[in-house]
Amino acid sequence: MAATKGAPDLYSQFLSSAPGAFLAKQAGLPQPETLRRYRPGEPPLAGPILIGGSGRLAEPLRVLLSDYPVASAHDDKLGALVFDATGIASIEELEQLFQFFSPNIKRLGPSGRVVVLGTTPEETSSVDEHIAQRALEGFTRSVGKELRRGGTSQLVYVSSDAAPDLSGVESTLRFLLSAKSAFVSGQVIAVGKDSSTAPASWDKPLEGKVALVTGAARGIGATIAEVLSRDGAHVICADIPAAGEALSETANKVGGTSLALDVTSPDAADVLAKHVKERHGGLDIVVHNAGITRDKLLANMDDARWNSVIGVNLAAPHRITSSLVKSGTLNEGGRVIDVSSIAGIAGNRGQTNYGASKAGVIGMVHAEAPELAKKNITINAVAPGFIETAMTAAIPFATREAGRRMSSLLQGGQTVDVAETIAYFASPASNAVTGQIVRVCGQSLIGA
Ligand code: NAD
Repeated sequence: MAATKGAPDLYSQFLSSAPGAFLAKQAGLPQPETLRRYRPGEPPLAGPILIGGSGRLAEPLRVLLSDYPVASAHDDKLGALVFDATGIASIEELEQLFQFFSPNIKRLGPSGRVVVLGTTPEETSSVDEHIAQRALEGFTRSVGKELRRGGTSQLVYVSSDAAPDLSGVESTLRFLLSAKSAFVSGQVIAVGKDSSTAPASWDKPLEGKVALVTGAARGIGATIAEVLSRDGAHVICADIPAAGEALSETANKVGGTSLALDVTSPDAADVLAKHVKERHGGLDIVVHNAGITRDKLLANMDDARWNSVIGVNLAAPHRITSSLVKSGTLNEGGRVIDVSSIAGIAGNRGQTNYGASKAGVIGMVHAEAPELAKKNITINAVAPGFIETAMTAAIPFATREAGRRMSSLLQGGQTVDVAETIAYFASPASNAVTGQIVRVCGQSLIGA
């Protein structure tokens, strides 16, 4: 499943030619936008930001986002619409969403961002408020499906006990209001009450941190290593011994270390702990990316296929996290990030083993989050959709095209899109974000 980094698919290449674009428009074919992606030094948004709403977050939000250019009444090509919906406490008040968004939505420019902030429904103070706040999910997801030209739409639920300075929400807002979240849309992220300290530089939030990435020899894992290293971390790149040369290549590229490690071997956690203790003292970030598929219809499945997939994708990350926490190898304030899949949400024909393992990963995140919180360790997962890798390039043409186009963004994602979301979870400033699953799928219709 190695990455074919940044290579546009053939259809996108065809569309980028003048005749291609003309023909596609005439025929009413999907026209994917070239998504704006992060480049150091570029402004986070492509245009100014318009903030609306009048809840408890509106004023702190303006202060927090004061370094983003603010839209005037006449600006078009807006970079983002941000709405504080925490003041909506009844069904009738939902009209405020319509009043703000209906006239402004067409002012959004390419790769525009919509972010709605609400109060976590379970923490509301009345039945009416709970209903209204829950309604925000359907609203933001539907907006995501209406946006064109690479626009994304998200909902951030903020704890009713969050500190008034909103520092705990900052990393989430900065991620969503940036080109780093290019392939993330229709997501709901709940942020807890804890405050955060902003990193010295938002471009190097992982400075001084030690990260482990499993399955780092190629594909998504190699890109995760690159992005964590770009953000300042020292990366330990782990993969099976057979990955040898490719693993060294990744490690050299990111100035990290390579570690031959089969995550399923019974002593994997001990080998890891020894490596970390000897060289770094402790570990701050663990990314359980190693994963395999062994597809077969259930009726034809053999036990080797079943057991290997459950073993690599689910049992290994569970065992390794527990052991690293128990031995104190994972530092207080650590970050655990798992890799699920939309197949774990929607299920997939021929993938009962894989679907079970990736749904189990979601269960693992939910179940482990409260326990790990006692050590200020967070655990979250990304659930990638169709990502352009050698694995997806090998899928038969019609199925591959359906996988790409059946999403709001009308295209497959890049490995960097998964890596950026992982880097957001890994940030020290994301300490109030735990137990969350963020799909990196361009708002795929699969499992929606
Ligand atoms: P890949 O096959 O390109 O890379 C996986 C890496 O994991 C390989 O380098 C492999 O050697 C390593 N690995 C496998 N078994 C291992 C073991 N026992 N111990 C250590 N390393 C091991 O796959 P990818 O497409 O980059 O996928 C990475 C992760 O993303 C996987 O968990 C996968 O399930 C998930 N995912 C991928 C997609 C996609 O579209 N490619 C979609 C959803 C989820």
